[in-house]
Amino acid sequence: MTTATKPTPAPVLTATDLDAHWMGFTANRAFKRAPRLLASAKGMHYTTVDGRQVLDGVAGLWCVNAGHGRDGITQAIAKSAATLDYAPAGFQLGHPTAFALADKLTAFTNNKFERVFFTNSGSESVDTSLKIALAYWQAAGETQRVRFVGRLRGYHGVGFGGMSVGGIDANKKAFGAQLLPHADHLPHTHDIAANRHARGQPGTGAELADALEEIIAKRGGETIAAVIVEPVAGSAGVLVPPKGYLERLRALCDSHGILLIFDEVITGFGRLGATFASEYFGVTPDLVTLAKGLTNGAVPMGAVLIRKEIYDRVTGATESGIEFMHGYTYGGHPLACAAALASLEIHSTERLAERANMLAPYFEQAVHSLRDHPHVADVRNIGLMAGIELESRPGKPASRALDVYLDCFREGLLIRYTGDIIALSPPLIIEKAQIDEVVDKLGAALKRVA
Ligand code: PLP
Repeated sequence: MTTATKPTPAPVLTATDLDAHWMGFTANRAFKRAPRLLASAKGMHYTTVDGRQVLDGVAGLWCVNAGHGRDGITQAIAKSAATLDYAPAGFQLGHPTAFALADKLTAFTNNKFERVFFTNSGSESVDTSLKIALAYWQAAGETQRVRFVGRLRGYHGVGFGGMSVGGIDANKKAFGAQLLPHADHLPHTHDIAANRHARGQPGTGAELADALEEIIAKRGGETIAAVIVEPVAGSAGVLVPPKGYLERLRALCDSHGILLIFDEVITGFGRLGATFASEYFGVTPDLVTLAKGLTNGAVPMGAVLIRKEIYDRVTGATESGIEFMHGYTYGGHPLACAAALASLEIHSTERLAERANMLAPYFEQAVHSLRDHPHVADVRNIGLMAGIELESRPGKPASRALDVYLDCFREGLLIRYTGDIIALSPPLIIEKAQIDEVVDKLGAALKRVA
């Protein structure tokens, strides 16, 4: 197993050196008063600019599933940079590595999805999948299918499409604007009162999928292009779908001819103990959005997996010439493709999804040992991801989780938090002793912050 390397001496940054960079999803002013800066990473650890080791409890940002600094990936990127620094993979030009990666990805899905469209991020994957759904219906002659259905508390990135189908109000309200005009939302599936401390899929709540019928009754099923959900909502605090919920959603979409999109930006590449969540739950959508773990986070890249019939319909609708007016300059970038191929190779040879599946019961046991810690309202888990929901301080939402996050970072553990929910999603190479360390450090922080 890889171990942490000695940090490369990092330049010392003064307060003014931090001014220019406007950081996304960050409390910029507070951060710049007390920055947390990472200098290097190897295996399960980051090293900070001041030389401290930080155990990575969240795979960077749900990306680094194979652990940090993987030699195979680094070498593949270097080789690609030296051979073909840039070539479009679209715009009437291509390069072999993009085709090789598309082939390999379809094989990863056991050929359930036979076509792949490359993007550079999860947000782009989401917006691309929405556009493919619209293009499909235009091509199919059902031009009235222009509506989308997302879910409350869903996170689908920050593009206008993803924001519109997403269900996190805070991400929208600062922008005042009307987003996509045709988006409705299912209720979320989170119900602590019914499912507190659920291990794996909660038992209650499958019927929440039936809310789709109400939307259909109101809007007309024939106007809906697609339903998009995260199989497990990640960013909103690890919301695990109730048993039977996804199956019901699939059945309802089928009976009204609606496309189903799974946003697997977080759940793809082994997180649940299967290569994809669709495989884990045994529910097959029509389109799947990917990013993050695809390149192990090493080069920005996303992808959309597409059923062949959808591709055929869209491409077949045009007599000749360009069939889909969409694409990104950097989609299928040679360095990203090389990184993804190397990353998939690691997933295959090290059987990372199986490893996650094997570790999941140990991880479950460990995280549920936190349930009686101060202010813990709920612990939930699936595969190698867990949410620990805290009681909010009166009038100060999110402040308790922030304090826990800061305490953990000081003590050498990286976690995530959303509102007052802490999320864990370690690299799949984590060892049992490191799971213990994550839980011990988090437990100690919960006690100190109480
Ligand atoms: N979709 C899901 C489910 C995500 O979790 C994320 C990011 O966390 C995105 C989309 C957006 O991905 P990106 O930040 O790469 O644009």
